[in-house]
Amino acid sequence: MSNSNSQAISIKGLTKKYGDEYAVAGIDLDVAQGEIFAILGPNGAGKTTTVEILEGYRSRDGGDVQVLGEDPGNLGDKTYSWRERIGIVLQSTSDSGDLSVRETVHHFAKYYSKAKDPDGVIALTGLQEKSNAKIHTLSGGQRRRLDVALGIIGSPELLFLDEPTTGFDPEARRAFWELIRTLRSEGTTILLTTHYLDEAEALADRVAVIVDGKIIEIAPPETLGGRHQAQARITWVEGGKAHERLTMTPTTDVATISARMGGEVPELQVIRPSLEDIYLQMIGGKE
Ligand code: ATP
Repeated sequence: MSNSNSQAISIKGLTKKYGDEYAVAGIDLDVAQGEIFAILGPNGAGKTTTVEILEGYRSRDGGDVQVLGEDPGNLGDKTYSWRERIGIVLQSTSDSGDLSVRETVHHFAKYYSKAKDPDGVIALTGLQEKSNAKIHTLSGGQRRRLDVALGIIGSPELLFLDEPTTGFDPEARRAFWELIRTLRSEGTTILLTTHYLDEAEALADRVAVIVDGKIIEIAPPETLGGRHQAQARITWVEGGKAHERLTMTPTTDVATISARMGGEVPELQVIRPSLEDIYLQMIGGKE
């Protein structure tokens, strides 16, 4: 059985109802210390509800939950010390518009006993140029980066990121991914919800797919949905005609075709199902 001390998050049989409807219908899930774990699922699948229960912001109806060794639904006098160990980046945050980026980050740093250097965090999140800008003048993506800066300022052991890169341009997303990898190398455990399959693939050690409040599968991105065992599709042109073959041995097949054709194979393509193809199959048209 799992040892709860080595797990940053441990969930057994979690349920949550709104009225008569189950938003979370019995979830079992462990996240190891130092792991980057992504939760994927269509709108309304129960991701935010699950994450907010883990953060201690929503009550649950059933099941056992341990986050950094505590039950977030029953923290009592451990609330403050537990909160200090956790960083949270919510989907949307209320703004404190009249302060500058620098003032805000410095201000939040004071709440934590193990705060990171505020100017270092501003640099890490790529906000140096906006350091003196008032928050209400930031773009959506810059605002989001400030949210991340505030989520990590307290050196959290566990960081919750709810759709962190929504509204980022491609360059900012890549920079954000680097930031997440830096945090991982420092030992931070990260629970991420995202709608971007490439983000899950680039960052996550494991992915859980949730549909209708239930987990369909938990696996590393490379093996999710049997992806590693899925056949590759080879297409090429031979004798003036388009050819296609499904195969488990694309390298061997391409070598055979190439040998037969005496070298270059016109319009050769080897296509494997992307994480997105597999995911869309798994959720069965719900997105
Ligand atoms: P999204 O990808 O859109 O953020 P999600 O997977 O985070 O979706 P949740 O926000 O957890 O989904 O919602 C799960 C279900 O619970 C949805 O059907 C939603 O309508 C319902 N729900 C969520 N919060 C409440 C609430 N406070 N009261 C009633 N129903 C709710």
